[in-house]
Amino acid sequence: MGESLSTKIETIKVCHTLLQSPQFFQFLVQIDTDLAAQMHASACQCGGVLHRANYPRKPKACPEEVLFEFQSRWSFCCNLCRKRSTPMSVRFLGRRVYVALAVVVLAVKRNKINAATTLAGEALGVPERTSARWRQWWLQVFGATALWQAQCARFIPGVELTELPQSLMARFTGTAHEARRMLGRLEWTE
Ligand SMILES: [Zn+2]
Repeated sequence: MGESLSTKIETIKVCHTLLQSPQFFQFLVQIDTDLAAQMHASACQCGGVLHRANYPRKPKACPEEVLFEFQSRWSFCCNLCRKRSTPMSVRFLGRRVYVALAVVVLAVKRNKINAATTLAGEALGVPERTSARWRQWWLQVFGATALWQAQCARFIPGVELTELPQSLMARFTGTAHEARRMLGRLEWTE
C-alpha cells in the first residue's frame, strides 16, 4: 500500500516535470482540438448535426496548473438520434479517468523492463491493452493527421515516427534553450 502510493507520487513528479514544458502540453491540446474539429465538421451517420456535449473528467496524476484543460473530454451528441461521437484523444484514454501523458511516461519506462513500472501502471489503473492501443494510434495514425503534416517540417532533424510518442516528447523536454527554439518554430492555428 505504502509502496504503491510512493510509486504514484513518483509518477506524478515525472508528469509534472514533463508538463513544465508547456509547449508539449500545448501540443497535446492542439492535437485534441484538431481531432475534435474534424469530427464536429462531419455529420452523424443518421444525417443529424453533432453538438458539443463534453464528458466531465477528474484526472489522476494531473498537475494543478493544467487541471483545467483536463477537466473535460471533448465529445459530441447528435441532435436527431442522440448518438454519441467521441474523437480520439491524446489527453484521455477511452473512458478511463486519467491523463494520457502518464501513460507516455509509463511507456517510456516499459521499454526498460522495470518492476517499478508495473507498480506505476497499477497505481494509475492503466491496463496493458489500453497503453498498447494508445501507442498504436501514435505509430499508425498520428503521422497521417493534418496537424502533423502541417507541423512536421518544423522539426529539424525530423522526428522518428517509429519512436512516437517518446521521440516527439523528447523535443519538448530538452533544455530551456531548446524549448525556446522549438517554440519559435511552431505556429499554432485555431
Ligand atoms: Zn444521429
